[in-house]
Amino acid sequence: MKAVRHIGYHTFPEIKEVEKPTPGPGEVLLKVAGAGACHSDVAILHEFDEGLNPQMDPEFTLGHENSGWAEELGAGVEGIELGAAYLVYGPVGCGICRACTRGQDTYCEHAAAMDYAGIGLGRDGGMAEYVVVPARNLVPLGDADPINAAPLADAGLTPYHAIKLALPHLSGGGKYALVIGLGGLGLIGVQILKALTGATIIATDMKEDAMAEAEKLGAITVPGGEGQVERIREITGGKGVDAAFDFVGVGATVGTAMKSVARQGRVTIVGIGNLSPYEWAFLTTPYEAELVNTYWGTVGELHEVVDMYKAGQIVPQVATYSLDQALDAYQLLVDGKVSGRAVIVPHGH
Ligand code: NAD
Ligand code: ZN
Repeated sequence: MKAVRHIGYHTFPEIKEVEKPTPGPGEVLLKVAGAGACHSDVAILHEFDEGLNPQMDPEFTLGHENSGWAEELGAGVEGIELGAAYLVYGPVGCGICRACTRGQDTYCEHAAAMDYAGIGLGRDGGMAEYVVVPARNLVPLGDADPINAAPLADAGLTPYHAIKLALPHLSGGGKYALVIGLGGLGLIGVQILKALTGATIIATDMKEDAMAEAEKLGAITVPGGEGQVERIREITGGKGVDAAFDFVGVGATVGTAMKSVARQGRVTIVGIGNLSPYEWAFLTTPYEAELVNTYWGTVGELHEVVDMYKAGQIVPQVATYSLDQALDAYQLLVDGKVSGRAVIVPHGH
């Protein structure tokens, strides 16, 4: 079968012919419905250096945001329906530590001893005709469309986790949230904030069309550049935003978030754009403002995200590409030309 392979550090991926995998004990073979192209792959392909994360050493098949139909069950698997559609929880931890048993494989206590970080992250992912995943990583989609659902596995789950942890900052009325970066994750982030909070949402991006999309979803937009922080503060009546979510994470956007946050507010950095240190100073930081980063989410939260999708509260903006067009989709992502999410559909619609 064909697969999109990460073949080396600082190297563009290739489409190669590989063997169709077979599910081992406790695993399931999925016929891939959709595999999202996440901006993290751009970092993995072009920015990561050898030695940074040995679990993600090439070569492997990309695609950590997947959905598909159960095609074959490995030994001992029960409760998975052949032919039914599932969303895939991508992180794969040891399965037995405290983090994994609460469904948070992202923070597995034995991660360093694992051979891979997740599906499409060191272990073969979903940008192929078929993918093998552990049965415990499957979230049933029922009648919901699995192709449009694919982005939920990361572009939905990651902002959901970040926003859920910030909810105490957004409760109590008269609250403001800031969303920086309105791509795959950011546009779903706006929808999740709208559905879960009464906060006024302020959003920003370099791209006009992304800001127009956020306005349609109910956000107030503020363009970048001169006067941006002042404008954000003005909207909040001077106090600043109670929670900021940075889906870019470069020095400039972290700075915007930290300058826009209110006292006792929370800044969550999700974008992995900044691999160098950030300078923090006592007197220019609002008192008790928290600065945290987050990584993906829990499988329990993925079930909640699927409920929101089924209820129409999350509608991913999807552009589909065939497996043969996957490299074009990655090039568009590198060039900043994807609106919403590019999803590879190996078997068509
Ligand atoms: P994307 O390419 O779909 O969207 C990024 C958006 O940010 C684009 O609309 C772009 O125009 C905008 N942007 C870029 N630079 C900007 C700037 N300086 N100011 C304002 N807007 C700017 O990317 P994505 O797939 O949504 O991923 C977003 C980020 O989140 C990436 O860095 C990705 O690696 C990271 N990520 C992190 C996690 C995690 O668990 N922490 C998970 C998935 C993705
Ligand atoms: Zn574990």
